[in-house]
Amino acid sequence: SKMVYYFGKTRTDGDTSMKELLGGKGANLADMTSIGLPVPAGFTITTDCCDQYSKAKGKMPKGLMDEVGKVVKTLEKETGKKFGDDKDPLLVSVRSGAAVSMPGMMNTILNLGLNDVSVVGLANKTGNERFAYDAYRRLINMYGDVVMEVGHEYFEEAFDKIKKKYGVSLDTDVPTQGLVELVDAYKKVYKKHTKQDFPQDPMHQLELAIEAVFKSWDSDKAISYRRIEGITGLKGTAVNVQSMVFGNMGDDSGTGVAFTRNPSTGENKFYGEFLVNAQGEDVVAGIRTPQPVKDMPKWKAPNDKTIGKKVHAELMAIKEKLEKHYKDVQDIEFTIEQGKLYMLQTRNGKRTGPAAVRIACEMVKEKLIDEKTALKRIPAGDLTQLLLPSFDPAGKKKASPLCVGLPASPGAAFGKLAFTAEEAVERSHAGEQVLLVRKETSPEDVDGMHSAAGILTSTGGMTSHAAVVARGWGKCCVAGAGAIEIDEKGRKIKVGGKTYSHKDVLSIDGSTGEVYAGQMPTVEPKLGGDFATVMKWADKHRRLGIRTNADSPADSKRAREFGAEGIGLCRTEHMFFEGDRILAMREMILADNLEDREKALKKLLPYQRKDFEGIFKAMNGLPVTVRLLDPPLHEFLPHDKKGQADVARSLAIKPAEVERRVAQLHEANPMLGHRGCRLSITYPEILTMQVTAITEAAINCKKKKVDARAEVMIPLVGTVQELAILRALAAETIENVLAAKKYSGKLDILIGTMIEIPRAALTADEVATEADFFSFGTNDLTQMTFGYSRDDVNTFLPDYIGQEVLEKDPFQSLDTSGVGQLVAMAVEKGRQTNGKIKLGICGEHGGDPASINFCHKVGLDYVSCSPFRVPIARLAAAQAAL
Ligand code: ADP
Ligand code: MG
Ligand code: MG
Repeated sequence: SKMVYYFGKTRTDGDTSMKELLGGKGANLADMTSIGLPVPAGFTITTDCCDQYSKAKGKMPKGLMDEVGKVVKTLEKETGKKFGDDKDPLLVSVRSGAAVSMPGMMNTILNLGLNDVSVVGLANKTGNERFAYDAYRRLINMYGDVVMEVGHEYFEEAFDKIKKKYGVSLDTDVPTQGLVELVDAYKKVYKKHTKQDFPQDPMHQLELAIEAVFKSWDSDKAISYRRIEGITGLKGTAVNVQSMVFGNMGDDSGTGVAFTRNPSTGENKFYGEFLVNAQGEDVVAGIRTPQPVKDMPKWKAPNDKTIGKKVHAELMAIKEKLEKHYKDVQDIEFTIEQGKLYMLQTRNGKRTGPAAVRIACEMVKEKLIDEKTALKRIPAGDLTQLLLPSFDPAGKKKASPLCVGLPASPGAAFGKLAFTAEEAVERSHAGEQVLLVRKETSPEDVDGMHSAAGILTSTGGMTSHAAVVARGWGKCCVAGAGAIEIDEKGRKIKVGGKTYSHKDVLSIDGSTGEVYAGQMPTVEPKLGGDFATVMKWADKHRRLGIRTNADSPADSKRAREFGAEGIGLCRTEHMFFEGDRILAMREMILADNLEDREKALKKLLPYQRKDFEGIFKAMNGLPVTVRLLDPPLHEFLPHDKKGQADVARSLAIKPAEVERRVAQLHEANPMLGHRGCRLSITYPEILTMQVTAITEAAINCKKKKVDARAEVMIPLVGTVQELAILRALAAETIENVLAAKKYSGKLDILIGTMIEIPRAALTADEVATEADFFSFGTNDLTQMTFGYSRDDVNTFLPDYIGQEVLEKDPFQSLDTSGVGQLVAMAVEKGRQTNGKIKLGICGEHGGDPASINFCHKVGLDYVSCSPFRVPIARLAAAQAAL
């Protein structure tokens, strides 16, 4: 099959639909060429070739270089230039580009095709010898670094020597002769470290460069980036070979990057940066501080006073054209060569959660996209960024910032200072909250950036590596805070005359760029405007109900404000740990006989009743699923001698008695032991107390005109017999309470079960005859289906993910092919014998967009998740339905 796709005036083989095969960059270069934008001609080698290269353990696919040879001929014909020519040489860039963008994963090689002959050709053609030798030395450096892994510092050393010789400190002040000598020096560095001469044959240069791109796919930083981003299932990277244009040919040339709208806030303003007389990555690398594109009209060149105005107008026209074509925000790279604008890249722009919401809403208003497309566009998980706290304006008024950098990625973060990526990883694993402080970040730093609470850099612009990556993750970042002097070795920074070390806390505001000393107070966000619009659209399109997992009135209230339509899981055991309750609980556990146990339970009852009343009130009119006591009893007792002595004292019994009982309760596998409904089979009085509390609370609420809708959920059922016995007991308890309270109104308390043991799923048709509802407890169901202890899984899970035994953590995202089968089966079997059964999920998966999609597909009625994930679940449920 075809390995190489050409793009140019001669012909264009690819288009934007071919991202899998040509990578995002390649597909869009072809696409931009087709819609008439000025793109330097070139060709793309498919991701299939990269896949073949990996599979063949580093052997180039057969016939690839023959095909490449043919398109190079086409390229030479179209451009009128020749590889290695002594009059007008063809020079190309070699660029990587996978289907999913991985910023800065491999360094691009520029100026390929230069050699001792063609450098003279370039000098003659451009009439600029200095420029030609500068391009050549850059090639040797990049090629040495990227292809042959010669350390960049050796080239730096050689450069420093030349600068010293000519008594200059800036690269740009080195005279032509110095650059000619530098090329020689660089060739020596190259030879010393590779034991070879710098290759003079352009086709040979090209072949090795292509191979280097293939290799970069399996580099550590690329692998680690894919792991963090959860990118799997790609074949590899494509290789783009593109004829060079030069942004460094003088004051009428330049290079830049831009977003068609503000990627941080979403505001519809063209947003970019450019540098005059600069090449390639100078903007992204943050070496010189670029100018904002809005100032471009002021740019004048000696030979062209209106150059800035012209190029700016062209860029604005291209913005319109691109947004109309892609119907999304574009992130573009461009270069101006002697007044002529070229497009080098376009892709859908990464944006923060708030920006995603605003852009989606505004594009609907502008009629660029419809409501459904808008909903699909917003990554559901990114909504958390809108729910995060920000710094309290009142607190900010009192403090004055140490300095102000660029608002690179919004949010409010604070932490102790960490100075390297490794340090950030280590200290945050050890439980510290750190800010990663760097001059500038590089792709090697992604692990550290990911584990830090926020990122602060002293150089680099809004489109620097740190800013782009942070925005992609929704991580707070302040970039280019130039007032900060970083002493990495001394582990301290200096700003405004003060020094802060790794022990000090700073706060950074990614929405304003402000940096403060100490920990600033935060406030909760206000949720209105575009966010509310998106939620309204989502509610219109979703079929799944959304409930929340909440144990307290405060959580319930918050979840309700976020749009929860009920509580899917109220864990009662959390209530037993507070204050005096734990004492009564321990008394119950330590009781030797039924009578003492009932006495202790009586003490617990009023607490429980009050808790339930609070929750029913907060959820007035909405269902509340209360799960009966679930954990093994030993969890409520201390395991150390001192703790046990304290318990003995407060209950006025002998310490030996406590010890004896703890020993008695000891189990080898408590998670598979005496817990869940098994407790109520042995101690039915526990169930009776809890159901009494629920029923009494419901009655009290009803009397106060609060519409309490209780649902009793029996955990850890494995057989229909367990449920039959406990359901009967619960029903009888409800009747008894009604009679005792002489309450004649309707309570309609549902009684159902969790499906969290594989056997319950397998026999769901039987279990359903005794249940008004099923709630899939997918945490335990995953644990028991895989046989992985969820408390210990991290001893091996990282290896499993690393070696791709598993694609992702099955406790975070539902294993649809395994655990999912049990869910699907239980849904079908349950409905067979009980047409009215209600079906939901209450495991962690209830807040995970991919799992929610699955829940929609298998026909659940609702998902339940933590309060903060409710908006995510609403959107994900709509996305599943679209
Ligand atoms: P990345 O994926 O890291 O952004 P790119 O392949 O986009 O890498 O290349 C980085 C930069 O190199 C581009 O932004 C552009 O400025 C420069 N570049 C790449 N190809 C060319 C070319 N053919 N002519 C001029 N500059 C180029
Ligand atoms: Mg790029
Ligand atoms: Mg469970």
